[in-house]
Amino acid sequence: MTHNRRKKTMKGTRNSIDDQRLSGETHGCGSHTDPCEKVRCELEEVREEIAHLRRTLHRIQQIARLGYWKASLKENELFWSDVIYDIFGVAPETFTPSIRAFKAMVHPEDLESVEAGMWRAQETGSHDVEHRIVRPDGEVRWVHELADYAPEGDEQILIGTVRDITEQKRLELRLRQLSRTDELTALFNRRYFMQRLVQELARYRRYDRPTSVVLFDFDYFKRINDTHGHPAGDQVLMSVGKLLREKLRTNDIPARLGGEEFALLLPETALEEAVGVAEKVRQLVLEQTFTSEEGHSFSTSITCGVSSFHGPEETVEAILHRADQNLYQGKRAGRNRVVADERNG
Ligand code: GH3
Ligand code: MG
Ligand code: MG
Repeated sequence: MTHNRRKKTMKGTRNSIDDQRLSGETHGCGSHTDPCEKVRCELEEVREEIAHLRRTLHRIQQIARLGYWKASLKENELFWSDVIYDIFGVAPETFTPSIRAFKAMVHPEDLESVEAGMWRAQETGSHDVEHRIVRPDGEVRWVHELADYAPEGDEQILIGTVRDITEQKRLELRLRQLSRTDELTALFNRRYFMQRLVQELARYRRYDRPTSVVLFDFDYFKRINDTHGHPAGDQVLMSVGKLLREKLRTNDIPARLGGEEFALLLPETALEEAVGVAEKVRQLVLEQTFTSEEGHSFSTSITCGVSSFHGPEETVEAILHRADQNLYQGKRAGRNRVVADERNG
C-alpha cells in the first residue's frame, strides 16, 4: 500500500494525502468502524509520509552534496542538516554545531572573508561565499555557502545552504593553471607573464619595491635544429624549463615568451641582484650537455638582457624595451653574456 501511495506522489502534482482527501479514497483506514482507530490509522499514514519525505530530502541533499543550516548570530547557535556533518567529516553523535565550532573548521586563510560575509549579510540581506574547510582528518574541502538574513524579532538569523564544491574547484584550479602554462616547458606563458608584469608595476608604483626583468634568448638556436634535429632543440627548451623551475625562488616568475625566448620577472629584486640571477642561469645553461638522436653531444648558451623598474614614469612597454635592447646589445657583442641597464642609483 505504501508503495502505491509513493508512486502516486511522484506522478501527481499534489501530494498523496491531498489526493486521497479530494478523491475520497480511504485505503486501509476507511475500513475501521471505530472512529478513534480510523484517526490513529490516518495519523500513522501521515507519520509515514513525513518519514518518507525526510528520507527523500536527505537523499536529494546527498545527491546534490548540499546541506541546509540555520544560525543565530547573537546566540552563537547553529543547526545543521545531516549532510553537512558528512561534508565536514564529523559525526552528529560527537559534534555539536555552533558558530564558534564552525569557524574553527574554516580554513585559516578564508576565515576573514567568511566573517566579513556574515556581517555583510545583515546589511545586504544575503550571504554568498566560497571558502575552504579543514576536516578533522586534515582533508581540505571547498564549500559554497548561500544564505538569507532573516531576523526573527531581535534574533539575528541566517538561513542557508552549504554545497560541497571541491571537485568543481579542483577543475577550476586545473583549468586556470593550464591557461597560464606553456605546454612544452611547463613554465608560465607570455599572457600570464604580461599580467603579472602589470601587477608588479602597480605594486612598484604604490610601494616603490625593487622589481627586475631578465629577457634571454638562446644563441644560434637555429643551428641546433639544423645540426641535431628539431627534437634536440625541443629537449634544450624543456631542460631550461626544468632548470628554471628548480633553481629560482618560488616568488620569481619564469616564462617562455615564445620560440626560444624566455623571461624572468623578479619581484623584490634590484638590478644588481637580477644580474646575479641572470649570470647564474647563463652559467647553468652553459654547463648542460645534451645528446642528439644520433648520439652526438652538444651544449649551448644564452644571452640575457636585464632591466629594473625605474622612476615614476615607468611603463611595462618601457622596461621590456630596455631589457630587449640590452639583450640585443649582448648578441652584437658576441653572445653568451649578460647586459644590464647602465644607470641606477
Ligand atoms: P641568435 O643567436 O641570433 O638568437 O640566433 P638564433 O638562431 O637563435 O635565432 P633565430 O631567431 O634566427 O632562430 C630561432 C630558432 O628557434 C628558429 C626556430 O626554428 C627555432 N625555434 C623556435 N621555437 C622552437 C621550438 O619550439 N622548438 C624548436 N626545436 N625550435 C624552435
Ligand atoms: Mg636565438
Ligand atoms: Mg629568438
